[in-house]
Amino acid sequence: ERQVQKASDAGFEVRAGFEIEFALTRESDGLSAHRGPAYSANALRDVDQFVVLLLEALSANGLDIGQIHAEYGGSQLEIALSPLDPLAAADAQVLARQTIHSAAKAQGLRASFAPLPSSSSAGNGWHLHTSLVRDGHNALTGDGEYGLSDTGQAYIAGLVRELPGLTAITAPSSGSLLRRRPGYWAGAFGFWGVENREAAVRLVPATPLLGPEHTNVELKACDASANPYLALAVTIAAGLAGVADSAQLPSPVQEDVGGWDDARRDAAGISPLATTHAQQREDLLSSALVRDVLGMELLGAFVACRDADATWAESHTEDELLESLRWIY
Ligand code: GLU
Ligand code: MG
Repeated sequence: ERQVQKASDAGFEVRAGFEIEFALTRESDGLSAHRGPAYSANALRDVDQFVVLLLEALSANGLDIGQIHAEYGGSQLEIALSPLDPLAAADAQVLARQTIHSAAKAQGLRASFAPLPSSSSAGNGWHLHTSLVRDGHNALTGDGEYGLSDTGQAYIAGLVRELPGLTAITAPSSGSLLRRRPGYWAGAFGFWGVENREAAVRLVPATPLLGPEHTNVELKACDASANPYLALAVTIAAGLAGVADSAQLPSPVQEDVGGWDDARRDAAGISPLATTHAQQREDLLSSALVRDVLGMELLGAFVACRDADATWAESHTEDELLESLRWIY
């Protein structure tokens, strides 16, 4: 609420929507509920009764989606929630997860929202898309580079410069750290790109087909272990801080930087986002913006939870850890 108010004070409405990825398996034998292939309507035919039930239930719960499809992971599906104001978007995310769990259960299926359901599976991102609206129009769209306004460039710059601290909130758990692998479109490195799915921040530009209102920014390094209210608060704050400071946008990177060597990434100023608890904790505590958004009491509680999570993880194998997280979100 505070960040929405700050956006409003700066003359903006924020639009936000989550994309929810999940692995769907059969309760009886744990096998994949669909045979793929990725993005195919054939995959959805294997789970047609689940899909019909889910669409009816989402609609009955007042949840609007843009799309449902089979994602690239074996047994993976995704729904894209339509954009809303941030508080409604966080509420919708919480209600959507309950609705998916219930529809799956009613069909003898089980949905895993874990950031990484198992070491051999694709990760589940809950990517966070945001945009700013001013005077009824998308304020990110403009005739500057990449189809962006000055506001749009500064908004993205604000997100990119804050990525280490930001992602400690948006992808916070021991499971999030394991999901963060190069080559999986999971936002393993702190850079941005135009339609680059390997980037932690991906600009989804306006197109002639979709029109100028479509411009939005996707944060890939976000997952179901995040609190959606906190994830939105820090994301909005980071973007708005960029706008307030007229932050300079670095050049986009249009490649998979996981294939580069360290020297080339260093020269481009690109670092991996944290893959250890110690690093993520340091990133969190050294972000003045995140500290300010959470406030000391909430920050202390948040860090205590993360420390407890990490302590448990240290005394267990990776497989035990993934198993323990598989069904809890
Ligand atoms: N499943 C990928 C992830 O871990 C993302 C795939 C996509 O770009 O939609 O975030
Ligand atoms: Mg996806």
